[in-house]
Amino acid sequence: MNRQEQSDEAARLTEDFVRVIETLNSGRKVQPAVLSMMATLESYNASFDNVSQEDAQGMLEDLLQLLHLDLLQKQSSNNSSSEDEEADDSTVISEVFQGIHRSFVTCLATNTILSTSSDTFSAVSVSPNPPAGDSHLQELLERQYRPHMVLWECWKCGKQHQCSRFRVIIKLPQVLVVKLSW
Ligand SMILES: [Zn+2]
Repeated sequence: MNRQEQSDEAARLTEDFVRVIETLNSGRKVQPAVLSMMATLESYNASFDNVSQEDAQGMLEDLLQLLHLDLLQKQSSNNSSSEDEEADDSTVISEVFQGIHRSFVTCLATNTILSTSSDTFSAVSVSPNPPAGDSHLQELLERQYRPHMVLWECWKCGKQHQCSRFRVIIKLPQVLVVKLSW
């Protein structure tokens, strides 16, 4: 899917989303509007050759991503008259829902940081430990962010070996979507 197709898709999704909100406000039956929005999301997913996106969280992520893209598009066309070179890629969606992770991979043998990277996220997935089903969210999140070992091509040692990887949240979103997966 190219950029143009993606922004068309985002515009379509935004219209669907607005229709859902309008229908909710009007008190009419919302199901047709929701189904139409889901169909747009599905066609967006299909164009990425993804397996059909069945879980609600994946759908929410796509919805947020497309709304974000469409708002960006509108913002940049509004700003095109000004000579402002500074690209602002934040929208109300990213401000509320988007956090930033920073990941570090460390060679424990030489105590060297091999790699750092940052990526944005709009949800954190945690897995409660069955059968002890009453873990606290705090513990689940701590476990999710605990360092763990990964096989890594270590440039310091010149070979592949187990290295420690950990992630920290450097920007917490205003609304953190937590997905419980079993
Ligand atoms: Zn190493």
